[in-house]
Amino acid sequence: MFENSTRTELGDLGEFGLINHLAEHFVPNLPDTVCGIGDDAAVFDMGDKYGLVTSDMFLEGIHFDLTFHPIKHLGYKVVAATLSDISAMNGIPKRILINIGLSNRFSLEAVEELYLGIKMACEKYNIDLVGGDTSASPKGLFISATALGEVEKNKIVYRKGCKVNDLLVVSGDVGGAYMGLQILEREKRVFLEHPTMQPDIERHDYIVGRQLKPETRTDVVDLLDSLKIIPTSMIDVSDGIAGEIYHLGKQSNVGFDIYENKLPIDPQTVEQAVEFGLNPSVAALNGGEDFELLFTVDPKDYEKIKGNMDLTIIGHVTETPGKYRLITASGNAFDITAQGWGVIAE
Ligand code: ADP
Ligand code: MG
Repeated sequence: MFENSTRTELGDLGEFGLINHLAEHFVPNLPDTVCGIGDDAAVFDMGDKYGLVTSDMFLEGIHFDLTFHPIKHLGYKVVAATLSDISAMNGIPKRILINIGLSNRFSLEAVEELYLGIKMACEKYNIDLVGGDTSASPKGLFISATALGEVEKNKIVYRKGCKVNDLLVVSGDVGGAYMGLQILEREKRVFLEHPTMQPDIERHDYIVGRQLKPETRTDVVDLLDSLKIIPTSMIDVSDGIAGEIYHLGKQSNVGFDIYENKLPIDPQTVEQAVEFGLNPSVAALNGGEDFELLFTVDPKDYEKIKGNMDLTIIGHVTETPGKYRLITASGNAFDITAQGWGVIAE
């Protein structure tokens, strides 16, 4: 199936390169697989509705750090983060399966705490935990979750589908989870050097909460439904807006202009970015894990979006594929590089 003759470093390929490379060989065969690899969730035909299924992985030391992440919050986050990909298809989450790998460092009580958080999230989002798998792990905690959801056929929204001049909208605010993580990591370093010092996180409660216990925007999916808006494309913000517009743009063959002064950034995020010597717009564009919804709408829906406290129009679709620009208040345009790794000038 694969015809590589020499060794290829995974680092050269990158995460998206690797997924694309694998996906080429797994084009769906079944007539009722509507969408396979490549969107936030896979889509299958259930007759009157579409079914949605998505999977996420959480590795200790990579995705979370239990020295500052309460394990109950982690349980909640695993569910919220996984369901976010169902919301990103304009779907309604219904069921989840959770797999855990545990080293002998963990007690029953720790696992119970984890599942208390999982249960809280299941109740909050009105879903059932219906299965999973449990294994020993040589080191640390491993969690993976698979969520199932559904959506009415005429309401499904993919990453592809937006047209030139569509408005780009984001829910809530962005950059907070990233700045929250910076604070937690700083306080961990301080604690390791000065174990008697009290952590300084209370005045950052909002952004620390964004990192430790994020929410899925199922409420935004409901809001769009009540406003009778079906976005023309949508993705959830798990890796930062800069990375997400790259996916929307690539799949819809368009570009985007984003207006810097429209980015919804919470005052705590701004304050912390400044304290860390970072341009708040960089945190807003490149910071991940906000789990907000980023979507495009037809300009005729402008009146329905405008004035809504939870939705912000931050830009629009342009006709040059692959061209993603940040327009500053003074009218200068800077390229936002794919996958969010570029430096955005002041
Ligand atoms: P998200 O950030 O929305 O979770 P990802 O970037 O993780 O999306 O995944 C993008 C797409 O690639 C999804 O359709 C996902 O199911 C698919 N994918 C990711 N990893 C793999 C893999 N190892 N094998 C097959 N498909 C994968
Ligand atoms: Mg996603």
